[in-house]
Amino acid sequence: MILPNEVYVDSALETHPVVHRIRQGLDHLPWHSRGDLDRVIQDVLSYQSDPCAAGKQILCIRPYQGKLVKDCPGTIGHICCGYKIINVMTNCPLDCSYCILQTYLNNPCLTLYPEFTRIFSEIDEILDAHPHRIFRFGTGELGDSLALDGIVRFADEAVPLFARKLNAIFEIKTKACSVDHLLTLNHGGRTVCSWSLNPPTVIEGEEHRAASLEERLRAASRCADAGYHVGFHFDPLIAYPGWDDDYRRVVDLLFEHIEPCRAIWVSLGALRCSTSLKQVAQERFPTSRIFSGELIRGEDGKLRYLKPLRVAMYRHMVSWLRSYDAELFIYLCMERDDVWQEVFGTSPGSTAGLNSWFEERVRQFTEGGQ
Ligand code: SF4
Repeated sequence: MILPNEVYVDSALETHPVVHRIRQGLDHLPWHSRGDLDRVIQDVLSYQSDPCAAGKQILCIRPYQGKLVKDCPGTIGHICCGYKIINVMTNCPLDCSYCILQTYLNNPCLTLYPEFTRIFSEIDEILDAHPHRIFRFGTGELGDSLALDGIVRFADEAVPLFARKLNAIFEIKTKACSVDHLLTLNHGGRTVCSWSLNPPTVIEGEEHRAASLEERLRAASRCADAGYHVGFHFDPLIAYPGWDDDYRRVVDLLFEHIEPCRAIWVSLGALRCSTSLKQVAQERFPTSRIFSGELIRGEDGKLRYLKPLRVAMYRHMVSWLRSYDAELFIYLCMERDDVWQEVFGTSPGSTAGLNSWFEERVRQFTEGGQ
């Protein structure tokens, strides 16, 4: 686990039980209790030459104003998967060149919101208001779900809690491999452990500080052996000379480690970014090859590969993945209806349509005994 160098805690949370527990794991680090954490963040933004890198060394523990569980914001004109994001932590000790958080957050520090009880009551409110729908919740949108969980231990509370929910599933999404603490939890078949995958050359060149492909797949295999559902995300798919051979090898390696029928879902999403992210990433990672391909601006303002290339990449991936399991549930992340049609010959048509496909898939896995 990659730990920060120091910890700042809001003085109002100093005696909070979650903070107390985290302190036991990080007692060797300098701890500062402060009433002005905004000032700490501003200092990182103002005085550090690379605030993103500096922020990854600092853990801030602070209260959160507003809802801690939110809808995934999606993107205009594209089909979103209707996910619920749990804001337990923002930012991440790993350092991917393409990480959207480099421009997304006005706070570059690792930031933990320790009021887990509030999170759980917000989840209950959502589930109780719609008992006939099935919701997917996850912690891996504004950070990596596992990179610091060995210390934070959110999963210790969340996994058994979701085990008791009939209309929800919890996803832990990661590029890390520290799963020891998950293996003995009572998950009740209501947690998916999922890994982002890329070829070794992309991992080494772009996903700094993340686990290797082999480590991720071994961790996935251990979680599958412990009875968890597992998922995989090929996102971002990166185009470069030889990408097809490399990705095909990743698919082969994936199913050497995992029985295809254990994968609840696989997502595909070609590289996309804002102009500002491209600029920040090129400054921070001058040797990165990630933005060397041709990217064009879509209607949501994001830069993407040209549609024919995206469709070709998705079609190849689908055929390689489905050669192992024709029924494998594969979805596209943030793509338009016409792209779905060209890749699959069908489309969910809307976020609501994709949501109902997910509900059906979750029912198969939670009620069908997979
Ligand atoms: S693991 Fe995810 S959150 Fe962390 S740096 Fe990489 S892309 Fe960003």
